Amino acid sequence: MSLLSDVPVSTDESRRIETDVLIIGAGPAGLYGAYYAGFRGLRVAVMDVLPQCGGQISAMYPEKPIFDIAGFPAVRGRDLVDSLVAQAEPYEPVYLLGHRAVELSHDADGRPVVRGDQGITVHAGAVVVTGGVGTFTPRPLPAGEAFLGRGQVYFVPRPADHADRDVLVVGGGDSAFDWAVTLAPLARSVRIVHRTDRFRAHRATVDKARALGIDILVDSEVSALHGAAHLERVEIRHRVDRTARVFPVQTLVTALGFKADLGPLQNWGLTLRARRIAVDTRMATNVPRVFAAGDITDYPGKVRLIAVGFGEVATAVNNAATVIDPEAQLFPGHSTDKED
Ligand SMILES: Cc1cc2nc3c(=O)[nH]c(=O)nc-3n(C[C@H](O)[C@H](O)[C@H](O)COP(=O)(O)OP(=O)(O)OC[C@H]3O[C@@H](n4cnc5c(N)ncnc54)[C@H](O)[C@@H]3O)c2cc1C
Repeated sequence: MSLLSDVPVSTDESRRIETDVLIIGAGPAGLYGAYYAGFRGLRVAVMDVLPQCGGQISAMYPEKPIFDIAGFPAVRGRDLVDSLVAQAEPYEPVYLLGHRAVELSHDADGRPVVRGDQGITVHAGAVVVTGGVGTFTPRPLPAGEAFLGRGQVYFVPRPADHADRDVLVVGGGDSAFDWAVTLAPLARSVRIVHRTDRFRAHRATVDKARALGIDILVDSEVSALHGAAHLERVEIRHRVDRTARVFPVQTLVTALGFKADLGPLQNWGLTLRARRIAVDTRMATNVPRVFAAGDITDYPGKVRLIAVGFGEVATAVNNAATVIDPEAQLFPGHSTDKED
C-alpha cells in the first residue's frame, strides 16, 4: 500500500496526481471502490481527511463486532477495514490520507480536477464520492485541548502506543467504552469519566468494562489538565458535591462524539437532498463524471448500511469505467475468471 499521508514534494509537479478514478472517502465504501477500480484495471487514488482508513468504523467502533456483513457471521470493525485494505492492495491504490477534498473543477477535456487542502491536485477520469456523513470533527473537551498531541487524543488507531500508561477516557458512549476496554489489557490503569450516570454505550460493553475493573467515575467532569512537555495529571470534579480529585494520566482519550459536516462538498454544484448527494441508478450525480456511493447518497428507498454501500460503489465504479472509456463494458466480468 502506498500510504501518502504526506505526499513527498520536490517540485510543484509532484503535487499533481494523475489517476483514472479518484475516490473521496476511505470508509468501507471507498475502500471497496478502490478494489473494484483496480479489478477493472483502472488506476485509483483514495483521498481522506482523516489520517487513517476506515471512516466511521475506525473512528467510532473499531473494536465492535459487526454482524451484518455478508459472509461474515461476525467481524471486528478493525479486521473488516484491514481486510478491505488488503483486498485492494494488489492494485496499489495511492492513499492521500490527511487531505480534505475542497474544490472540484473540470479541465479543458471535461475531466474532473479535485484540489485538496494541502495543495495537491488530482486529475481524474472520474470521481467517486464516498464521503459518508462528511468530515467529522471531534467534539472538544470543555476543559481545553492544551495537551493535544502531547497525551490528549481523539482516536486510538494503535492501542500499543498507550501501553503501560495511565489512561483516562472521557465520555459515556460506545467509542468511550470501546477504547477503555481495548486499552485495559495494555495500560497501567484505565478510568472512564462521564458527566452523568447514564451511558449511551451498549450495555454489554459497560458490563465488560466493569468486569475488567475499569474505574468508572460518574456525575464528574475533567476540570483541569496539568503537565510540562506532556500531560501528567488530570483534575476531575464531581458535578454535584464539587469535590476534586487529581489522577496521574499520560493518555487522555476525548470520546465526546463528532460533528458531521459536508463542508466543501456543498459547493460542488451537486444536487443535495437533506444534506445527501442525489444519485440515479448508475450512482451518477448531476455533475459530469462524478459518482457517489455509501452513506452520502440519497435516492428513494435508500438504506444506510455498509452492505448497501459495497453494492453501490461497485455500481458507481463500473459505470465510471464506461465514462472513462466509452468502449468499456459495464459488466466487469466475474472475479473468479481472473488469473491469480
Ligand atoms: C457506532 C456505530 C455502529 C454502526 N454499526 C453498523 C453495523 O453494525 N452495520 C452496518 O452496516 N453499519 C453500521 N454503522 C454504519 C456504518 O458505519 C456506515 O454505514 C458506514 O461507515 C458508511 O460507510 P461510508 O464508506 O459510506 O462512509 P464513512 O464510513 O462515513 O466514511 C466516509 C469517509 O469520507 C471522508 N470524507 C468526507 N468528506 C471528505 C472530504 N471532503 N475530503 C476527504 N475526505 C472526506 C471522512 O473523513 C470518512 O473517513 C454503524 C455506525 C456507527 C456510528
